Amino acid sequence: MQPTVKCPKCLIETEITLVLTAQSNQNVIFTCPRCNFEMKDIHTSKG
Ligand SMILES: [Zn+2]
Repeated sequence: MQPTVKCPKCLIETEITLVLTAQSNQNVIFTCPRCNFEMKDIHTSKG
């Protein structure tokens, strides 16, 4: 099972691998596929 992240706005749950975008500065941005809400500094279990 893939780890998921829940959008705080519309509460949809999506696999993080599908919605996380790694930036060149190594920040990670979550973009909700449903409402396009963006959230920075995502905490993942990795590292
Ligand atoms: Zn959303």
